[in-house]
Parts: sequence; C-alpha cells; structure tokens
Amino acid sequence: MSSLETHTHTHEEGTTEVAGAVPLRSFKPQNKRRVLCAFPRYSYSFGTFNHAFPLMGDVKGFMPPQGILVVTAVIPEEWEVKFVDENIARVKPEEFAWADVVFISGMHIQRNRIHDLTRRAHDAGKVVALGGPSVSSAPEYYPDVDLLHCGEIGDATLRLFQRIDETVERPEQQIIYRTVERLPMSDFPTPAYNRIKVRDYLLGSVQFSSGCPYTCEFCDIPSLYGRNPRLKTPEQVVKELDMLADGGAVSVYFVDDNFIGNPKAAEALLDALIEWQQRPDRDYLVRLACEATLNMAGHTRILEKMQKAGFNNCFFGIETPDPKALKAMKKGQNMRMPILEAIQTVNKYGIEAASGIIMGLDTDTDETPQALMDFADVSQIPIMTVNILYALPNTALYTRLEKDNRVLPAEQAENRDSNIVFLQPYEKVVKAWQKVIAHVFDAENLYKRYAYNAQYVYPNRIKPKNPAAQATWSNISRALGIFRRILWRVGVCSDYRKLFWKMMWHELKQGNIECIFQVAMVAHHLITYARECTQGKMQSSNYSIRRVEEERESEALAAA
Ligand code: SF4
Repeated sequence: MSSLETHTHTHEEGTTEVAGAVPLRSFKPQNKRRVLCAFPRYSYSFGTFNHAFPLMGDVKGFMPPQGILVVTAVIPEEWEVKFVDENIARVKPEEFAWADVVFISGMHIQRNRIHDLTRRAHDAGKVVALGGPSVSSAPEYYPDVDLLHCGEIGDATLRLFQRIDETVERPEQQIIYRTVERLPMSDFPTPAYNRIKVRDYLLGSVQFSSGCPYTCEFCDIPSLYGRNPRLKTPEQVVKELDMLADGGAVSVYFVDDNFIGNPKAAEALLDALIEWQQRPDRDYLVRLACEATLNMAGHTRILEKMQKAGFNNCFFGIETPDPKALKAMKKGQNMRMPILEAIQTVNKYGIEAASGIIMGLDTDTDETPQALMDFADVSQIPIMTVNILYALPNTALYTRLEKDNRVLPAEQAENRDSNIVFLQPYEKVVKAWQKVIAHVFDAENLYKRYAYNAQYVYPNRIKPKNPAAQATWSNISRALGIFRRILWRVGVCSDYRKLFWKMMWHELKQGNIECIFQVAMVAHHLITYARECTQGKMQSSNYSIRRVEEERESEALAAA
C-alpha cells in the first residue's frame, strides 16, 4: 500500500464504537516482525516533578505512558516486541537496528521529541508509525512520519498491522490510517505493565474513561474523544491496580480527562475501589489521584466515596477565578458554586486540590496578575500550574482566533511559547506570567499553603488499619535513602532550609512522617522549576515548540 490512504470523517462524526466489530485482537499475521515501541521524553513542566526524582533515588520518570502500553498489549503475540520509554532510558542504536518497525506515540507537548525519534529511526533505515493524541489531532504536524495512526485503537490499528505484516518498507508517500470503529474500552487489554519497572516511575497510572461532556473553548478533548465518556469496567481497573501495587506503586493517578465525566459510572467504580482498598492485603497502601471538573464539589456522595476509596489529590482545571473569563471560555461548570467554596468542600474530604491556570486570555487586564496571586494565597492550593494560552487545532478557540487572523503560522510561532496574537503584547503576557509564577512558588508562600493543607486537609484522609505492614525492610531502606537525600539537598543545601526545618519539626511532633516526605519533595520541584521559569529557562506554555531544553539535555546526557 503506497498510496495516500485517508478517510474524510471527522473524529466526532466518523467515529463509532461497535462491540466485536473490530477483529483486531484475533488478527493472525503471516510474517514474523520485530516491533520497537518507543515513547518520547516529556518536556519538563510543573507537572513532571523532574526535580523531585533525584530525591527519590531510583525514580526516573513521571508516569507509565498509558496509550503506548495499551498498543504494546494489542500487538499480535506472533510478533516480537521491545518497549522503551525515553523518560527512563534512551533508545540504543542496537535497538533501532533490531527493529523492523518503530511505533511512536505522544502528545503535543512531546512534538519536538517525536520528530527527534523519527529522525533517529529513519537514520537506522526503519519505517515509523505514529499514533496518540498529537497526531490524531494534528496530522499536519508530522509530514516526516511514514505511517500515521489517527484516532483511538480500532480498525485503523488493524489496517496498520496488516500493512506491516505485508511489508516493512518505508512507503513512497505518507499513509494515514484513521479510526472509524473504535475498540470498546471494555475490550481493551491490560496495558503492558509487565514491560516496565513500576518503581522507575513517581506514580502509577490507570485510565478508566475517555472523553468529556463539556466544551471548554480551548480544549481538544471533546472533539478527539467525544462528549459521551467511554468506560472500562471496574474489574479491568481493579486488575490494573493490583498489577501496579504488586509492582511497588504507592500512588496511582487516574489519567482520565474528567474522572466524573459520567458521575454514575464514577460512583460504580468508586464502590469497587473502596472494596479494593479495604482488602486486608491492600489496606490503603496506595494513594489515588485524578483530574476532574470543579463541579465535583456539588456531588457529595461521590466525594464521600472518593474519601473512602483513598483519593488524596485531584487536579481541577480552574483556569481563572474571573467569572467573566470563565463564561467567555464556556467553562460554566466551574461556576456552579463559588470557586473558593468548592475547593474548601473537596478539602473536607481529605482531597488536596491542584489547579491549572491560564494567562493571556482576551479577558485579562492589568489587574489579572495580582488577582491570580491573591487567588493562590486564599485558595491555599499548593500546586497551581500556570501556563499562557495556546490555540490547539480542533478547538473552538482555534477557529475563533483564526477567523480574526490571530493564530500565527508555525514558522512565526517557533520562537515564541504561544501561537496566539494576544490582545496585550506577547512580552507583557510572558512578564506577567513570570511575576505570577515567582509569587505562587516563592518558597515561603508555598510552604504556607502546604502548612494549611497539613492542618486542615490531610487529617481528613483515611489511614491504613495496619500501617506497620508497610514497614518491610525494602520500604524502610528506601525511605531512609529518600530521607537522607531530603536532609542533604533541602535541609542543608537549599536557601529555604529554615522553612523546611520549621515544617519538619511541626509535622514530626504530630507524627505526620508522610507529610514531611511529600511536602519536601514536591515543594523542592516546584520551587526549583519556578526559578528556572523566572530566569527564562523554561517555556510559558506546555505546548510551546521553542527548543529551550536541548542544551540542558545534552549536558545531562554528557554527565550520564
Ligand atoms: S472540562 Fe476539562 S476535559 Fe472537559 S472540555 Fe473542559 S478542559 Fe476539556
């Protein structure tokens, strides 16, 4: 197949889910193949916690990559497979040489790294197939890749496998496979966790649902994954949690776009999770976290169940505390109750709120930076990630701005962190962003917010019945190693050590050992990363394609 093969369906219109209609899992190839599944490194961000890794000792990456682990699990068993996550280790030349075909998957924030991996695979003479959210949303970003897999796992995956079975020659022209019939999530295999070392990662990851019923102007999730969330069964999720917990995960993040996208289904899952946590062999040893919309605060029964299921953290896309701005971006679900009241409500159930904030909105004024800094202080949210707005393809925002000629073409956006012509000058927006970051992650301000959470939020969490069961030799020695590194790097070497010691004595007196570890590690990352941002070393948007990390990366590689 060397012709350009495309379907004209848009994702939403052309995508259906028909149980059993995609004979993907029964596909029997005729030829032996060697498939290298490679996952590109993430650009650093507030949310990657990379500065906490050296404190952990053995941790090298943030979370196991869900999507490509599922793809790895559906590859026909007749084919040999190698899996490499470049967040853990770089693909070696001999691994490229071994492969017949290289599968890559990634998000927009990995765009530069996807190109780098493709180039290295091509240098080794290998055909490259790319799937995942970024290419599904913007195939035009990847003219260099041979085979594009757009959409979720489904009939496109089957046709891709058939093509690879036929030939592993690079096609003369790019071929695009677009999913029309998706594999139902209840038919998804368990992600190939057997190919990773869970302890290499800061958190375990699980996906329960895909899609979100809301239509925030800047977000591409509804157009990519639909507004009617699709679901795995609670049994699938519990099986995955068992594998992650047995592999040594102590925290697991639900990567769903919106954990309560289908509140009824979320409740049914929570019942299964409560049962799982209450099993004597689990006993709340695994802390859970997720992302959701702020209207969760109005779902009392869900909150009660989340508390019982051991959910400690939830990331909310608060975006802005300004009601006018929320209305303009069509995020009415954040206004069902006053935002501060909503945060205090979830806090009562032991859930620490984390939040995303966007700057560069059309509604921003000269007062916006101060309003955001005040919001951080009064909301007591420790992890408040702040980014400037970026227009993603397949969003209403993109369409609106494009009409007004306010989306810059790629060549003009290359040296900026956003492709938008803001109403305020770009430099002013970035300066305001730096000012907000500097305040939010000033060590004293951050430790104050953590002190609040330690006093009013963490005590509301369910504790294990038998905490002594955690005290295995391996856990004790790991914890001592982490503690030693925290004492040295934060307690001795940092310029905010006084704040650390004050927090440590306070929590130690109350026996909150876990809190000391958590606050010291996460705060260390946030403070260090924020300083890099204010020094202009990091991008102000996660979607920026400005290459600021290459130099640092070559230094790190040289050091390794
Ligand atoms: S609620 Fe979140 S996932 Fe849903 S559309 Fe809005 S930003 Fe996207």
